[in-house]
Amino acid sequence: MPAIDRLPEASLDVVLPAFNEAANLPGLFAQLRQALAPLTPHWRVLLVDDGSTDDTGAVALAARDAGLPLRYVRLSRNFGKEAALTAGLALADADRVLLMDADGQHAPELVTQMHEAWLRGADMACAVRANRDEEGPLKRWGTRLFYRLVNASTRLTIPPDAGDFRLLDRRVVQALNALPERNRFMKGLYAWVGYRTEFLPYTPRPRAHGRSHFSLPRLLNLAFNGVTAFTNLPLRMSSLLGAVVACCALAYGVFLVVEHLLYGHPIPGWPTVVVGMMFFSGVQLLSIGLLGEYVGRIFDEVKQRPLYLVAQDTGPAS
Ligand code: UDP
Ligand code: MG
Repeated sequence: MPAIDRLPEASLDVVLPAFNEAANLPGLFAQLRQALAPLTPHWRVLLVDDGSTDDTGAVALAARDAGLPLRYVRLSRNFGKEAALTAGLALADADRVLLMDADGQHAPELVTQMHEAWLRGADMACAVRANRDEEGPLKRWGTRLFYRLVNASTRLTIPPDAGDFRLLDRRVVQALNALPERNRFMKGLYAWVGYRTEFLPYTPRPRAHGRSHFSLPRLLNLAFNGVTAFTNLPLRMSSLLGAVVACCALAYGVFLVVEHLLYGHPIPGWPTVVVGMMFFSGVQLLSIGLLGEYVGRIFDEVKQRPLYLVAQDTGPAS
């Protein structure tokens, strides 16, 4: 049953985070126009230029001059995709917001299905990749491990194959905007806010031009941020490891003393000391490092710096 306030002609803002996507934009704009025009007359594009060094800005402004309902917002430098999305969500004011990549991998045709899901009452319609065939085994394995770790340690379930290609109802956008944290692991935040979510399978298209900005080190960094933002499981694991190691050491100590008293064996000193010392220093450094990561996150939060700075904003499209 459609919700009462879900009118097909409700306004829709398309938030496109773009970092050096000049070559991909014209094609994407044409596809967006084709996909959105039949859905609602009130659609607009909100392009967040994440400090591009190519012609992304010029291409976007030319499209605006040519009549595309587009608001162009340029951040003062490259802040990263999560910050660009945060900026887009803060500035969009339509009844619903569509988040999608600007590189052509997210097919605008799926928006029709998202729109229908929204009309049916879903607050979030989320595209889920049907397969990861084009990814290498290392990336696939790492992704699985990451989601298993995060999902095992929180009460939330973050669906492994759901990315940033989603249609959000206004109240989800407001909920996301109200979250104060600086470490914005968006996939976790979508799950955290909850609301009625529908998942739609899709196969991402290959990138039209250029290559992915997310190299392996950057993905690892993102994964680590995600884990430390959403769970203190690593801290607990390090306490647990400490406890287990201490118990083993105690048991070994008792064994040595008993053996010495009963059989008079000399206690083998040197290797035991060296191995024990190295092992314990390793465990300690690891735990301190982990603790430091969390302290670092707290440091980031208390600085209260803005998540992004806007250098240019054309204002809402007419
Ligand atoms: N992006 C961004 N800032 C960045 C990196 C990427 O706004 O620092 C944008 C990029 O322009 C694209 C989207 O985020 O629209 C997804 O990036 P990409 O295609 O490189 O990632 P992948 O598809 O490999 O996840
Ligand atoms: Mg991409």
